[in-house]
Amino acid sequence: LRNERVTIAGAGLVGSLVSIFLAKRGFAVDLVEKRPDMRRVDAAALARSGAAGRSINLAVSTRGLHALEQVGLREEILKQAIPMRGRMIHPVRGDLALLPYGKDESEYINSISRAELNKTLMSLAERTGKVRIQFETPVAESHLDSPVLIGTDGAASAVRAELMKRSGNKATEAHLDYGYKELSIAPGPGGSFRLFKNALHIWPRGNYMLIALPNLDGSFTCTLFLPFKGAMSFEALDRPAKVEAFFQEQFPDAVPLLDDLTGTFFSNPTGHMVTVKCEPWHDAGRTLLMGDAAHAIVPFFGQGMNCGFEDCTVLGDCLDRAKDWKSVFADFSRQRKPNADAIADMAVENFIEMRDKVADPRFQLEKAVEKILEAKYPDEYVSRYRLVTFSRVPYRVALEAGVVENAILAELCEGLKKPEDVDHERALRLIRERLAPVLRERAARD
Ligand SMILES: Cc1cc2nc3c(=O)[nH]c(=O)nc-3n(C[C@H](O)[C@H](O)[C@H](O)COP(=O)(O)OP(=O)(O)OC[C@H]3O[C@@H](n4cnc5c(N)ncnc54)[C@H](O)[C@@H]3O)c2cc1C
Repeated sequence: LRNERVTIAGAGLVGSLVSIFLAKRGFAVDLVEKRPDMRRVDAAALARSGAAGRSINLAVSTRGLHALEQVGLREEILKQAIPMRGRMIHPVRGDLALLPYGKDESEYINSISRAELNKTLMSLAERTGKVRIQFETPVAESHLDSPVLIGTDGAASAVRAELMKRSGNKATEAHLDYGYKELSIAPGPGGSFRLFKNALHIWPRGNYMLIALPNLDGSFTCTLFLPFKGAMSFEALDRPAKVEAFFQEQFPDAVPLLDDLTGTFFSNPTGHMVTVKCEPWHDAGRTLLMGDAAHAIVPFFGQGMNCGFEDCTVLGDCLDRAKDWKSVFADFSRQRKPNADAIADMAVENFIEMRDKVADPRFQLEKAVEKILEAKYPDEYVSRYRLVTFSRVPYRVALEAGVVENAILAELCEGLKKPEDVDHERALRLIRERLAPVLRERAARD
């Protein structure tokens, strides 16, 4: 396997990182990228090439950081990141509330600029001396016939289309009937932050929501999620006065902070969100799909890139074990496919949680009880969110654990007035009887 040439299509986040994994194992990599080199062109040119509307910043967490650590890049990348310790909930009126993500200060997620991360990974890939990136080179017939091709060309993958054609299968694409629009909050005087810096801000409003993630320069990137059609939708917000009235009514504390709200609203594109599932991910040891090309998911668990980076970790492990590409690709797909399906489903569920439930008193009661259980039984009760975000337990196990946890919380909260009155004896019995068997697999993995 060593010293072979590998072609990778797509120098996005996953393509750049996997090329480093391969280079470190002695492979020479030809990386072809459809867009111009983002380290050399200005933002306007990139926007024209199709990069506009992609999220400006992302949350990187344990799985992504572990993959970066495998190639010695964790600390370097974390220098570009801002820790976000919890969700800061903005009600229409009233006080803000910070809901911590983790069990304590040691667990947080990190806001990072997508473009800076991508540029850094490309430069580090080139620095290995084994990766050659060709820009403005869309994957073509000649690449599709390469002896070994890895498709990391994103949610609308051309490599996937070819693989599906050859196998006679079809990918499924489930589009949300919601879109998203990016807006921004400029830095305050001297690069200060005009909202609390170390949080992911969220304005949950039932059928829609606004979120904001911090950037290093003091700005925040905000994303509005809204249905495409209907009474309150992108279609309905067709004039500046309507946009202004909508924001004044729903997000009054954000309005004075937002940069040229209506100008940005009408000039920025409206993004689509899709879950892509497909099979097979590989053929006869010649072609493999990774990252969004294999498993695009909706962004509500902050896991798309983390999952793609975890693909790199698993591919590295498979390469260290196997003797030929065929078994590497088969082993990789067997391990990753059930986990990618699980995070895809959890991401859609989390969309509903973030949108509808965060403001619901019963949900808040269950989450408060969950926090108490996590604090009191830290080794026995680990929430689904923490399993996904702060551990590397397979996503499939996290999904199964979440189903059990929801049932336990529903039982414990029945008729409960205050979270601190939760029946601990019953809680512990339920945790040991129902959750422990699911999490046993976690212990085996950790
Ligand atoms: C609004 C939003 C918020 C998100 N937030 C998070 C988050 O907080 N945390 C997280 O982990 N994930 C998040 N994600 C998901 C994350 O962006 C993706 O999972 C991640 O970018 C996937 O990386 P990738 O390299 O597989 O694909 P991409 O990043 O899409 O890269 C694909 C690359 O392939 C290139 N390409 C495309 N077609 C061709 C072709 N024909 N030939 C050659 N090159 C081609 C593209 O130009 C691009 O460079 C978010 C996504 C969105 C939309």
